[in-house]
Amino acid sequence: MKMYINGKWVDGNSLSSIEKFSPLDGKLLYKFKCASKEQVEMAIESAYDAFPKWSSLTSVERASYLYRAKAIIEKSRKELEDIIVRENGKNIIEAKEEVDGVIDQIQYYAEYARKLNGSVIEGETNARKIFQYIVPYGVVVAITPWNFPAAMVARKLAPALLTGNTVVLKPSSDTVGSAEWIVRKFTLTGIPPGTLNMVAGKGSEIGDFIVSHKDVSLITMTGSTSTGQSIMKMASSNMAKLVLELGGKAPFMVWKDADIENALRTLLWAKYWNAGQSCIAAERLYVHEDIYDKFVKRFAELSDRLRLGNPATADMGPLINGGAVKTVTGFIDEALSRGGKIATKRSNGKGPNANGYFVRPTVITNIGQRSKLFQEEVFGPVIGAIPISNKEEMFKLANDSRYGLASYLFTKDLELAHEAFERIRFGELYINMPGPEASQGYHTGFRMTGQAGEGSYYGIMEYLKRKNIYIDYSGKVKIPTPKLRND
Ligand code: NAP
Repeated sequence: MKMYINGKWVDGNSLSSIEKFSPLDGKLLYKFKCASKEQVEMAIESAYDAFPKWSSLTSVERASYLYRAKAIIEKSRKELEDIIVRENGKNIIEAKEEVDGVIDQIQYYAEYARKLNGSVIEGETNARKIFQYIVPYGVVVAITPWNFPAAMVARKLAPALLTGNTVVLKPSSDTVGSAEWIVRKFTLTGIPPGTLNMVAGKGSEIGDFIVSHKDVSLITMTGSTSTGQSIMKMASSNMAKLVLELGGKAPFMVWKDADIENALRTLLWAKYWNAGQSCIAAERLYVHEDIYDKFVKRFAELSDRLRLGNPATADMGPLINGGAVKTVTGFIDEALSRGGKIATKRSNGKGPNANGYFVRPTVITNIGQRSKLFQEEVFGPVIGAIPISNKEEMFKLANDSRYGLASYLFTKDLELAHEAFERIRFGELYINMPGPEASQGYHTGFRMTGQAGEGSYYGIMEYLKRKNIYIDYSGKVKIPTPKLRND
């Protein structure tokens, strides 16, 4: 893996290196030297120097680079699908969907080139106006996670570049290959040197340095809440604008009148998509007591039927690394120590390949709201279920989370659905349908899920500052001068 700094691909020259192991069989995939702090500095400075030229282009001109990148990516998309499978372990269908997402994001943001505008505001008199310009921030640092190693990169690069910012990308150390592939395609568009840079290195080593750098004006990061908190602290030194897309703990609510088959199928997707490693994954199951036993039993049976293993044929892949297996199985152990019961039959914490990072789908009952399983983000194929007896209880338990990204409700009762619009304190509510979020939706969360959001007009506006120009055309401005004394 290489770094891309000021238009050149170079090896990292830090003393530290990254070893990447295959989630499928635990074998070493690649090893490379990380970017040193000096290289990070060079990347930020080249982005800073490239900013005046890039931001002086029109958005239509900048969008032409995005359209070119999209065309290049479309042509060789199979390569990216294979890298995603290898690095992340997701199955090929999910990898293809992710690349569809990459292409869709780039297209979606490029189409905004002719739709961005500032405004003219009335002044106090007819001769006065206030022009509100929209201008890019400057150097954007984009920090991405491993769970959607390509889509998250595209979702940050496309709007940042379209709006005239220059970028330094720091991808997850677990999935540098997917990010490098995308950056290589962008370089083939002829994008000016310095406009887009990539440095790979451990967040624990270069993270503080990159986010607190004096020339960084905006940080867009997707990852865990604890990393988001650390970034927030460090960014107080440069007052960089923050776009933080952090953890989730989605409640999945099934009311007694729900279309059960639809709810079950959606839950299979919402829980096991990407092996549960998704910020919008169903993490807490609340089912009306009238249908609870039947629903949970059937969901456990369906979960047991999922095939793990070969990404070409499997329904679900492994977790990202050995650390994730430990964390996720730790949730099962904690639930069992509290008297939880495993409803799935095949849950044994192990998958088909002893050296791969597999955890079998696991459904846990007889567990309470205060358990770790209901309070902390699992980020794996494990879910707990609680019966609910009335809507007050359902909304109360659903909202009882430090996270506030996605939520799901299954009901045919329109009144209940509309009540949920008002009462659910989450950035997204999916009613009788699965996710994921659309490019034209605003992906955002309440509470510890972070700040600002991505997608839609509002997501693009996160990358633009508003500059206010006051002007008086009358030539007869009364200036409120202080009374001057003669002494
Ligand atoms: P993570 O460990 O927080 O890492 C995310 C990124 O931050 C990585 O590039 C990481 O680099 C970097 N990083 C780590 N420490 C840093 C520091 N001190 N300063 C600056 N950067 C630092 O998260 P993850 O495990 O990759 O991703 C899983 C999390 O992302 C989950 O909590 C999930 O819910 C969340 N997520 C949220 C959304 C959303 O839209 N809300 C979408 C996807 C995922 P290294 O890899 O080198 O450590």
